Amino acid sequence: LEVIISPFLGEEGQLNGVVAVLHDITRIRKLEKIRTEFVDNVSHELKTPVTAIKGFTETLLDGAMHQEETCREFIEIIDHEAGRLSRLIQDLLDLSRIEYNRVQARFEIINLVPVIHQTVLKLRGYAENKGLELILDLPGKDVPVRVDRDMIEQVLLNLVDNAVKYTPPRGRVKIELAEAANQVTVWVRDTGAGIPQEDLDRVFERFYRVDKTRSRALGGTGLGLSIVKHIIDLHGGTVGVYSTPGIGSNFYFTLPRGADKK
Ligand code: ADP
Repeated sequence: LEVIISPFLGEEGQLNGVVAVLHDITRIRKLEKIRTEFVDNVSHELKTPVTAIKGFTETLLDGAMHQEETCREFIEIIDHEAGRLSRLIQDLLDLSRIEYNRVQARFEIINLVPVIHQTVLKLRGYAENKGLELILDLPGKDVPVRVDRDMIEQVLLNLVDNAVKYTPPRGRVKIELAEAANQVTVWVRDTGAGIPQEDLDRVFERFYRVDKTRSRALGGTGLGLSIVKHIIDLHGGTVGVYSTPGIGSNFYFTLPRGADKK
């Protein structure tokens, strides 16, 4: 706490009172710390692929490029790392646009059922390639919600992509839509690795990963869930997760209903 005290003097210079200004600098300090940590994280995340790209390029230029097989192998790594860089930059841009309200949400009342259906279909190939069963459990009637369609698509893509990513072959990913009086809940359930209890609260933080190596190996940026949280906050909903390690994870988000149920 920062306290600034100034005397409040009358016309003849007599002390009439004191003005005290209290600044809660712990909050400011905390924000500064969060910002510094964020910049550190971003720099580190950017540096890792750049270092790899630079290292493999130099080795190629030093002569490795004359061996065809090595050449191909190295270029594939470079391509992979460049892909990571580009995903990272895209996620950072998305996050900062949403976080600093530079993106105006375009809310409209739409039926959520086909949005889920169409978005999840985009990941069907990915799931099938991994030998996963992708199940949709959606109501047979309209479920109106007031949302920005593109943003909700991104939320669904991020959650289902994670479910597929962290579930081993022959597993199952199930997307459910449940309705209550004044809100709807979307569940994304998987039979994957699960998340330890102590990490559950933290997975929505920027760059937080339960297993850094695994996330990186699978192409993750560590930003997907924080983007999800921001978007759902903007919609007045909530996000959360229940999980049992070794059994699977159940992510959910809620949205206010778009129209009164009559
Ligand atoms: P990433 O790009 O690393 O997947 P996210 O922000 O999407 O970043 O997720 C943060 C972390 O939460 C992941 O690194 C992973 O440890 C954990 N996680 C997210 N979804 C799942 C899931 N369906 N099953 C197991 N762990 C998950």
